[in-house]
Amino acid sequence: MAYKITQNRDECIGCGVCAAVCPDNWEMADDGLATPLKEMVEEIGCNEEAKDSCPTDCIEIEEV
Ligand code: SF4
Repeated sequence: MAYKITQNRDECIGCGVCAAVCPDNWEMADDGLATPLKEMVEEIGCNEEAKDSCPTDCIEIEEV
C-alpha cells in the first residue's frame, strides 16, 4: 500500500498549519506556500492530520 499526496497550491493560503502538524512531510517554500516533501509515501503518518487541518481543504490523499 502506498499513498499519493496531492496539494492544490492555487488554494493554499500559506497558513502553515500542515507544516506545523506534519513537519515530517510538509515545509513552507520560499514563495510562502506549503509544499509536500514527498508526494508518494508508504505510510500515511501525519499527512492525514495535515489534510484534516488544512483550512482550505487543498490537500488530497489517495491510496494507490
Ligand atoms: S494547511 Fe493548507 S492552506 Fe495551510 S499552508 Fe498547508 S496546504 Fe496551505
